[in-house]
Amino acid sequence: MRKFFLLVFLACIQLSIAAQKTFIQCGKLVDAKTAKLLSSKTIVIEGNKIVEVLDGYVNAGANDKTIDLKNSTVMPGLMDMHVHLEQETSPTRYMEGFTMNDADVAYSAIRFAERNLMAGFTSVRDLGGSGVNIALRKAIQKGYVVGPRIYTAGKSIATTGGHADPTNNYRKDLMGDPGPKEGVINGPEDAYKAVRQRYKDGSDVIKITASGGVLSMSANGENPQFTEEEVKAIVSAAKDYGFKVAAHCHGVEAMRRAIRGGVSSIEHGTMMDESVFPLMKEYGTYLVPTIIAGRSSADSAKIPGYYPAMVTKKALEIGPKVQATFGKAYKAGVKIAFGTDAGVFSHGKNWIEFVYMTEAGMPILEAIQSATWNAADLMGTQNILGSIEPNKLADIIAVNGDPTKDVKVMGQVNFVMKDGVVYKSSK
Ligand SMILES: [Zn+2]
Repeated sequence: MRKFFLLVFLACIQLSIAAQKTFIQCGKLVDAKTAKLLSSKTIVIEGNKIVEVLDGYVNAGANDKTIDLKNSTVMPGLMDMHVHLEQETSPTRYMEGFTMNDADVAYSAIRFAERNLMAGFTSVRDLGGSGVNIALRKAIQKGYVVGPRIYTAGKSIATTGGHADPTNNYRKDLMGDPGPKEGVINGPEDAYKAVRQRYKDGSDVIKITASGGVLSMSANGENPQFTEEEVKAIVSAAKDYGFKVAAHCHGVEAMRRAIRGGVSSIEHGTMMDESVFPLMKEYGTYLVPTIIAGRSSADSAKIPGYYPAMVTKKALEIGPKVQATFGKAYKAGVKIAFGTDAGVFSHGKNWIEFVYMTEAGMPILEAIQSATWNAADLMGTQNILGSIEPNKLADIIAVNGDPTKDVKVMGQVNFVMKDGVVYKSSK
């Protein structure tokens, strides 16, 4: 009999734990689907899921928890479609490949991941590193370290001598001849092997470097570096494994090949012009602008010795162009998903992209939509993320004030919840 009562008692405890809900009272709430600002709402959360969104301020029951965000603007967890969690800009960055072991990279990446989360970015796409980014995703999933939900490319895929060939400009005996395993391909057959290797490694998304890039040790920052056949082979292999393909791209010819080849997003898109906008729209390709990366690398290039001379030249030429291109693409109706290239500048400053997007003519609520609803669409995760609706994962953040009145409040994140767990609450 005593055993029976004990069992009933334990069952009751379990029930009360399971039934505990969190009520978030929101002064303002961003409806990410419509890019509208709503007032006086209460979000009800149970476990890691949103169960209801109610009108007005609803009080929690005796066993539930209330979070008062009446002076804040609440929105879905922000999603940055382009970060590099393994690295952060510094004048010694080009030496780090020779001085840092994977474990060193991993420990410093923990700080970068945490900064992204605390800045309100509950999900990020890591578009290229050595593979430590895959281990980091696993460590965060297991709760060993604190960071955003990561969708990672692992090692990005380049062509020989191209942007993201890991041995560019090395001396001959170190240069070797990296292949598909290391993320370097030449021809469609290699493309298949490289994608399959990423699958084996545990990547979530495929990243290719369709054109030259600014920060690599090579002369050209925008030339096409993949044939259209190579892009098509990458995309076709990626489809077999459920991967989307993101294409780093500055120059126009590289863009044309990447878009026609079927990639899901053009990253940076620096030289995109009136001849490319219709193609982007026809194929439904997203532009991930990374304005802040362009502007901050151009700023760093003005500091003598910050970059190698070869990089300085490209950063000054290419960097400042991104913002105006973004403004034109937005006006032309190209689909936009928010992305910053964090790591090219300091992690945690990702929010400044919102300032630059609004400067270029995009209203802040649409910029937030690009970092939530559109980003979830680009990642193929709209069923679980990107808006505050019943049955979605409880990834919710708040900023201190009203971003429609002052965009800079996007830098004052006072509440972060990821997967129903509160990581920051400092109102
Ligand atoms: Zn990047």
